[in-house]
Amino acid sequence: MSEYDLVCDVCAITMEPRDAVVTWVSKADGREEQDFTLAHIACAPPGATNRKEVKLLVGPNTFLEFVSDRFGKANPDPDPLRANPAEMDSLRAASFGAEPGVKFGAPAAAGAAANPKDEGGK
Ligand SMILES: [Zn+2]
Repeated sequence: MSEYDLVCDVCAITMEPRDAVVTWVSKADGREEQDFTLAHIACAPPGATNRKEVKLLVGPNTFLEFVSDRFGKANPDPDPLRANPAEMDSLRAASFGAEPGVKFGAPAAAGAAANPKDEGGK
């Protein structure tokens, strides 16, 4: 699995944008949304009230439309959408070709043992 693969929230197998869908549940009053899921079209949760095909969301205009449609909507359970700080640290480190928790330019082995700090997110 490469670092930018899409992974199905339901079956945990990687997927292509053309096979993926974002689903969520919209409350009747339209002011709250929750249970966002990124899944294979075949794995999509049956209880979802809304869906958007990922092949449409990868365009800049449709992505921005999707994001701006979320403005002003409360999500009573946002935790599943939050990135894991350790995961973000790994992605950031990988983007610099470095190892997580190691200062840029520091020898990897020495830095990892002496400086296991986490700057992720706080
Ligand atoms: Zn799946």
